[in-house]
Amino acid sequence: MPVKGIGTYDDTNIFARILRGEIPCRKVHEDAWSLAFHDINPQAPTHILVIPKGRYISMADFTASASSEEIAGFLRAVGTIARSLGLEEPGYRLLANVGEDSGQEVPHLHIHLFAGRPLGPMLVR
Ligand code: 5GP
Repeated sequence: MPVKGIGTYDDTNIFARILRGEIPCRKVHEDAWSLAFHDINPQAPTHILVIPKGRYISMADFTASASSEEIAGFLRAVGTIARSLGLEEPGYRLLANVGEDSGQEVPHLHIHLFAGRPLGPMLVR
């Protein structure tokens, strides 16, 4: 059965180009499974994007196709980054847009990490 959110990966998307080093980024963290960098248009004092290194469009795609090692490595990176930035105490927000209703702009799975001020309600009311 086809899984919604799994399509043909677009190798020209901006995060694929960042991963290939064709476009610069302000790197925060890199390991075998993940790359994290500052968002170019920050929505909070700290706004970091964490992406898996593999070619995955969405959470559905990632969880259906990635190896357990990739999934664990990526999730571990998210936790490691937040911890290493000292964000556990003040707190932070993780968010992943997937698909049309969410307004996902870049078709490469990414988790936003927001911090640095009280972040207000989860959704615009
Ligand atoms: P989405 O709306 O897909 O969840 O989030 C995409 C994010 O990527 C946006 O917050 C946008 O500011 C960020 N972004 C788009 N292009 C670039 C870029 O070239 N470099 C960086 N660092 N961030 C980008």
